[in-house]
Amino acid sequence: MKIEEKTCRSGRSAVPITIPLLILQFVLCASVFGQANRKSVDLIVSGGTVVTMDAKRAIYEDGSVAVKGDSIVAVGPRNEIESRYKAQQTIDGKGKLVLPGFVNGHTHVPMTLFRGLHDDVALNDWLYKYIFPAEAKNVNEEFVRWGTRLAAAEQIRSGVTTFADMYYFEDAVAEETKAAGMRGVLGETFIDFPAPDNKSEAEMLAYTERFLKKWQGDPLIHAAPAPHSIYTCSKKTLQDAAALARKYHAPILIHVAEMKKERDDSEKQNGMSPVQYLEKVGVLGPDVVAAHCIFVDEADRKLLAERQVGCVHNPSSNMMLASGVSPVPEMRTAGIAVGLGTDGPAGSNNDLDLMEEMDLAAKLAKITKVDPLALNAKAVVEMATIDGARALHMEKEIGSIEVGKKADLVLIGLDKPNAVPMYDIYAQIAYALKGSDVETVVIGGRVVMRDRKLLTVKEEEVLQKAREYRKSVAASLGMP
Ligand SMILES: [Zn+2]
Repeated sequence: MKIEEKTCRSGRSAVPITIPLLILQFVLCASVFGQANRKSVDLIVSGGTVVTMDAKRAIYEDGSVAVKGDSIVAVGPRNEIESRYKAQQTIDGKGKLVLPGFVNGHTHVPMTLFRGLHDDVALNDWLYKYIFPAEAKNVNEEFVRWGTRLAAAEQIRSGVTTFADMYYFEDAVAEETKAAGMRGVLGETFIDFPAPDNKSEAEMLAYTERFLKKWQGDPLIHAAPAPHSIYTCSKKTLQDAAALARKYHAPILIHVAEMKKERDDSEKQNGMSPVQYLEKVGVLGPDVVAAHCIFVDEADRKLLAERQVGCVHNPSSNMMLASGVSPVPEMRTAGIAVGLGTDGPAGSNNDLDLMEEMDLAAKLAKITKVDPLALNAKAVVEMATIDGARALHMEKEIGSIEVGKKADLVLIGLDKPNAVPMYDIYAQIAYALKGSDVETVVIGGRVVMRDRKLLTVKEEEVLQKAREYRKSVAASLGMP
């Protein structure tokens, strides 16, 4: 059968074509037309197994993620995404896992420079005999900057894209975090003794208010007050810090029920548990991020859930300091958002590898309950991603690979002996893969590590400086 001539550009063709050819030509035309009409984006992570951690826990075996500016504009099967979008920059994800960036819900990043200073001691001794004196002698703004750079290098290398920090000179932490392209919930410490940066509560309040104002609306930095704990802060300090946070709609970072002594003292002094005391003084609320929550009974858990407090579990730290075991399965059952943290990195860990914390969180819960079902691989991957985001009250922004969320992505290579074979993706992530398997990291659409090369931190310089700090810190404490 002869039909009328047709061409792609509606020009003339002298050669009559048959129906199959016409169909082929139509498809080609549509494809060329489609290609021309693909929307421009800035970055496509193309191929790879995309583990979204969205509400359905969707996984795309051959998926792609399209990024415009600092946000995700599309995620789905590779063919579908790439027929709709073209990008200036492409990262090949083939043969890799593509995950949301990990959320380190609790740490003290400048303390990287105290890594290994005094280990194998009890928390109370570690704090009062070693760390508080070491901080008084060594911590200044310069120290905090170098410690933060070192921590940024370490965290990016193991896939952490967001971290919650509590320390001093937190404005310097914020500047260095932003320079490294990382996302941070950064808490300036309130404590009832002269701190390395602020010598009185009035100074702490003034500093923190300036800090909160300065970072309002920043896409990467969320500034916060961080009253250290109920055992180092008076009722007034706790309340002042909380009031300041609420004035600026900032989160409140605090250590809660992290030691048996803290719980016992609170029972004695306040006639109630640390959690109930924080409720009584008006601190608990949907903006609080409570680190540890080890000594929380059923009534405490109910209260934490009601007040929508986010909790952060730190298994390495709790084990290393023999503090106790946080009732993570019970907290999850109570409906509390429980994230994961490294704590430390000095004296209580001593590194910032959140993948290790996933592994340990699951195994610690299993051995404590003598039940291998107590906390499974999928649960701990949730804790490192979407539940970590919920614990920081940032689940609308980060924690999963979904349209509209920030483009915080981690690519993990699977072409390694410890990565094959793979039967269960979550089990592989939690129990087999390591932080050092992370190859490429994107934060807010910016590639901060590509094929294990850091792009935002001068790593050699930072390592050298850390070695120099070892000498001056040791000398300040009369150590060899
Ligand atoms: Zn801590």
